Amino acid sequence: MEQLSAIAALLRTPRRITITTHQRPDGDAMGSALGLFHFLHALGHKCQVVTPTDYPDFFRWMPGCDAVMVGPDDPDRANWAFEGADLIFLLDLNVPERIAEFAPAMLRSSATRIMIDHHLDPQDFVDHQYVDNTASSTAELVYRLIQHMGEDEKINGDIAQCLYTGLMTDTGSFRFSSTTPAVHQMAGRMIAAGIDVPAIHDAIFATSTPERLRFIGYALSNCLHHLPELRTAYIKLDKAVFRQFNVKSGDTEGLVGYAMSIIGVELAIVMTEQDGIIKLSIRSRNGVSSSALAGEFSGGGHFYASGGRSSQSMEDTEKRLLERLVTYMAPSATS
Ligand code: 5GP
Ligand code: MN
Repeated sequence: MEQLSAIAALLRTPRRITITTHQRPDGDAMGSALGLFHFLHALGHKCQVVTPTDYPDFFRWMPGCDAVMVGPDDPDRANWAFEGADLIFLLDLNVPERIAEFAPAMLRSSATRIMIDHHLDPQDFVDHQYVDNTASSTAELVYRLIQHMGEDEKINGDIAQCLYTGLMTDTGSFRFSSTTPAVHQMAGRMIAAGIDVPAIHDAIFATSTPERLRFIGYALSNCLHHLPELRTAYIKLDKAVFRQFNVKSGDTEGLVGYAMSIIGVELAIVMTEQDGIIKLSIRSRNGVSSSALAGEFSGGGHFYASGGRSSQSMEDTEKRLLERLVTYMAPSATS
């Protein structure tokens, strides 16, 4: 792999490296960033992970979190982490906007920029990219880099816990269509490094408070709309619901999966009101494109899992969505 060789060549001498990932980091964002952090540290580099926003509490157990710089906590330091680096790794993102307020410092930096990612439609703003949109996760791509460098024996428990987390979360616990033999082989390698599989699963998924379950119950009872003729289900959560249940970052995680679990549903959307915009979380199956729909809402992602946003009101966003669905999910639109 030419791209991997070029990246490996940059890592032959010790560097000051900043690793970043997308805003509102998920398991793959944190897992791939911290997995790479531990690996590069083991190679003798000076590394700093910077997240553009805070991350959910259920990732705080991950080794290396103590050293993560949450950008908005100290924007000057975070900007300097980008501007003063030799190399910047951009993981699990492919457009500058995904690092929010830190995009200008990243773009202005004289550092060599390296993108490692698995989303569709990357923008060309980096010096090197290792992009494979068929890969399950960015964690899988980081593992391929480690293997390509012939450094497999450097995989320690810290690296393995982080990369396994990215792999597990982005494959929906090894059930999405991206779950290939290579994914299970990688999982096997991480388990061989001594990780505690049920402990990792529980640390991420067995973290609900009773309030969160009541919130999910409320959302499913009161905010779920099913349109069987359009093979679509969507959940609409306005600010009042967030306030009523004191919803925190990460609490809506997994909600879209309930909508997707309805028999006959091929497209599911969760709409949430956040920071003055409506955020759309989109999932699909059976050849229905999430990313094409996300593209109509200033977003993107993967074919079957995407996100977008709207600056209109919830009502207007819903109206626009419904108008689109009528043609998008008409019986002739897919098979
Ligand atoms: P989620 O629904 O879990 O927030 O996101 C699903 C997928 O879509 C993730 O891979 C995420 O990176 C991508 N995604 C979510 N929101 C956006 C967005 O606003 N823009 C783009 N380009 N991708 C997004
Ligand atoms: Mn990912």
